[in-house]
Amino acid sequence: MEGSRVVFIAGDGRSGGTLLGQILNGLSDSVYVGELRNIWHEAFEQNEPCGCGERFRHCEFWRAVVEKAFGSFEQLDVSAMLSMHKSLARERYTPMLMLLNRVPAELLGSELPRVYEDALSRLYRAIREVAGKSVVVDSSREVSQALILARIPGIDLRVLHLVRDSRAVAFSNSRGKPIFRSDNDASQHRKPEWISSASRKLAFDEDGATRILLRQGAVASALQWTWRNAWASGIPHSRHRRIPYTRLRYEDLVRDPREAIGGALDRLGLGRPDLSMIQGTHVQLGVNHAVSGNPVKFSSGGVDLRIDDEWREKMKGSDRKVVSVITSPLMHQYGYVI
Ligand SMILES: [Zn+2]
Repeated sequence: MEGSRVVFIAGDGRSGGTLLGQILNGLSDSVYVGELRNIWHEAFEQNEPCGCGERFRHCEFWRAVVEKAFGSFEQLDVSAMLSMHKSLARERYTPMLMLLNRVPAELLGSELPRVYEDALSRLYRAIREVAGKSVVVDSSREVSQALILARIPGIDLRVLHLVRDSRAVAFSNSRGKPIFRSDNDASQHRKPEWISSASRKLAFDEDGATRILLRQGAVASALQWTWRNAWASGIPHSRHRRIPYTRLRYEDLVRDPREAIGGALDRLGLGRPDLSMIQGTHVQLGVNHAVSGNPVKFSSGGVDLRIDDEWREKMKGSDRKVVSVITSPLMHQYGYVI
């Protein structure tokens, strides 16, 4: 049986992963499904909204996927899946998974990895079949999830490591992010009232009207950036079987999306697709069925990409300095000038 091709977007958050997924969703042979590492809790348990605006359990795409993969929503033991996910794929298990990925599951003395891997295999295959596309794009980011997928024989994993300037990421983290406003800007977000999450770092601001992602300090942001990107860079060396891997800088994606995406997919062995929906920096985004992820997933239509470099003007000097010092080894490796 042919394996499910998965393009896994790895790296830190606030790096444009949802936007990249949305653009890839417009390719003739790819389907973007958001951050599947969160599907058990945010989608199955919390019934949070899909990128199409419907609640997960009411979205026709996901209903069809679940029926094909598991029979029905009722036949899937969601709490068992969530508990297996937590015991196998937590981000802090990344170093252990890097080591264990060389060890066959049966030698680990547990049936658990096999059961979880089988469920993921069925899920990705059903997504591919329902969408009628051969490539599934998953922006889960966390390397632990990629390393679980790398173990599964039915999954043909390709890793697209998306990096963004650490100072821009830290500045973005320092501000929190509005998820929606009570005055509902309908042109930007369809059905924004659906947004809610108990699992992510969310809170209401002072007026109680705007839900925001919680802020993160400069040091924490720089350490997280380093941890996530360093492990993502290690993915191709995690198994005896080499995993196709390429790196893409957010800044290059925004500057010349056609060349950046065409080149990245080509390096991943997927060839250069038809990118006619991209004209210069203008991109047409269609409706998607992304779970979890940044609320930008609710946007569709024509978008003009531009580099968000507000941090250059507004970031505190002390924050800029500490982020630069902590992240400088990898920043240099990725070609950024500090
Ligand atoms: Zn949907």
